[in-house]
Amino acid sequence: MNFDVIIIGAGAAGNAAAITLAKGGAKVLQIERGKFPGEKNLMGGIIYSSSLEEIVPDFWKNAPIERPITEQNYWVSDKQSVTKLGYSDDAFKAKTEAPAHAYTVLRSEFDKWMAGEAKKHGAMFLPATVVLDLIVEDGKVVGVVTDRPNGEIRAPLVISGEGVNAFVSWKRNFGSKPKPDEVALVVKEVIELPEDVIEDRFQISGNEGASYEIFGDITKGCLGYAFLYTNRKTVSIGVGSLVADFANNEIASYELLEHVKNHKSIKPFLKGGKTIEYAGHLIPEGGYKKLPTLVADGFLMTGDAALMVNAVHREGSNFAFVSGRLAGEVALEAIKNKDFSSGFLNAYRKKLEDSFILKDLKSYEDVFPFFRKRRDILNDYPQLISYAAKSLLTVDGTPKGKKKKNMVKGVLKMKNPAQIVKDLYNLLKVLGK
Ligand SMILES: Cc1cc2nc3c(=O)[nH]c(=O)nc-3n(C[C@H](O)[C@H](O)[C@H](O)COP(=O)(O)OP(=O)(O)OC[C@H]3O[C@@H](n4cnc5c(N)ncnc54)[C@H](O)[C@@H]3O)c2cc1C
Repeated sequence: MNFDVIIIGAGAAGNAAAITLAKGGAKVLQIERGKFPGEKNLMGGIIYSSSLEEIVPDFWKNAPIERPITEQNYWVSDKQSVTKLGYSDDAFKAKTEAPAHAYTVLRSEFDKWMAGEAKKHGAMFLPATVVLDLIVEDGKVVGVVTDRPNGEIRAPLVISGEGVNAFVSWKRNFGSKPKPDEVALVVKEVIELPEDVIEDRFQISGNEGASYEIFGDITKGCLGYAFLYTNRKTVSIGVGSLVADFANNEIASYELLEHVKNHKSIKPFLKGGKTIEYAGHLIPEGGYKKLPTLVADGFLMTGDAALMVNAVHREGSNFAFVSGRLAGEVALEAIKNKDFSSGFLNAYRKKLEDSFILKDLKSYEDVFPFFRKRRDILNDYPQLISYAAKSLLTVDGTPKGKKKKNMVKGVLKMKNPAQIVKDLYNLLKVLGK
């Protein structure tokens, strides 16, 4: 068969590109190594409606979504205490004929549904097939080599939606294998609990859901955070950190997850639950400075393969949906103009530059390098916050004036004031870009 475009992968980015192209009438082949879409995929995971609505406008009516996220909590832990900050807003809820702001999903079901949308519009789907290499002739990508017998398949354009392990792209020097401090390992369990127990424990109703992200001592000195998200009849609990930090701290990922599950603030949420899924996956964190070639003759890169993730804000799915859609839109133009040169396809990069994708990646380019150098911040400051809260909240007959003075003195003993000012300044500088 003749194809206009071959897409590697049926994850968030590959599916977004496949739907866009199939809806536009292109002859698309999507190749996925899993036996079904989502078999190999994993996320926390929260998806954002705005980015998916642009691809499947009424998605929330049919997609296998779990719960809308209407309450977001951020906790900071030290050895004995937890400081909690939460935000809930009716604006996050679904309205008549409008989806909620964000939803939890389970990828094995969700990816199947999304790839089904592409199939519905005419995309051809080839499961259980690994793309081994790109076919490159005269400097142009003109197809792929798969692990099937006589496995070459040709098309004038190939879109990589390979995800974090972009071996096919790396083979042709489109990007390269990340270093251990440029990639995070996340381990996650899905724990089954009765729906009413979830709603009681998390104090949510049927159309509400909550997310918890926990920083500080809970990661035992590893740069990262733990998370707990409500699904309908399950909760997702996980923890992630740079691969280098697991190695440097000599902690196995499953040990860290056990530590998180047994943390006194988390354990009551999980009591009596049954683990029905356990998995690990990588998140690329090289950021803007490590961005690979996004465009070449006959070739586009999307999603995690192109390092499009903002881990600070727990965003990756939306980067994948939007980059996949933009790649699909540019590919439709290329098919119309019969021009698959990098000059023409560069419109993809321009669209990424005009969207939040490259703007956000650029503005966060110094955040990870900063935290990599200053891992201590995530340990020292939770202790300061805890000390300050404990000093002020303990009622022991000490007059408040003296209490406040003691609190300030204690904090300044723990950390040099000049260092606090410097840290704050540097943090605001990298985050405020
Ligand atoms: C534990 C975890 C929690 C996360 N939580 C969130 C969250 O809450 N919110 C959020 O927005 N983001 C989250 N993310 C990030 C988000 O999941 C990713 O950014 C997003 O899935 C990237 O989509 P993708 O299509 O680029 O890659 P993937 O979804 O990984 O898809 C890649 C696909 O390509 C296939 N493939 C790869 N190589 C080949 C090959 N050679 N041949 C054939 N098929 C191939 C794979 O099997 C896979 O199906 C999380 C990530 C992880 C790991």
